[in-house]
Amino acid sequence: MLCDRCQERNATVFLTRIVSGQMEKGQWCEACYAAIDPAHADAMAKGCRFCGGPLLCSLPFPSSDFVCARCKEEAYRFADVLISVDQKPTTELLAALDEHMKKWLSDNASPTDGLS
Ligand SMILES: [Zn+2]
Ligand SMILES: [Zn+2]
Repeated sequence: MLCDRCQERNATVFLTRIVSGQMEKGQWCEACYAAIDPAHADAMAKGCRFCGGPLLCSLPFPSSDFVCARCKEEAYRFADVLISVDQKPTTELLAALDEHMKKWLSDNASPTDGLS
């Protein structure tokens, strides 16, 4: 699959973004993605916001943060309790979420992970 922007290189970034309230699906090569959305490209390069693992998708809050599949599930589970869809997350909520994820990660980072 070719990049939407340059139509030359292979697309390696596949995302659904919210642009002015509209869902926009796209695929880009890394160079083009960095050009159209430097803040996101930068966040992506850093890895999952919570565990630093490989990225899967963006969280709707705070808008420029990316998380891996595992953290996303937990963050949504936690945030669902605290926010409704049309409510903007507060700094308190984000701090609570960070705190929760930190604890959750350390509780779940067992060395026997994957073994039974
Ligand atoms: Zn491109
Ligand atoms: Zn993670």
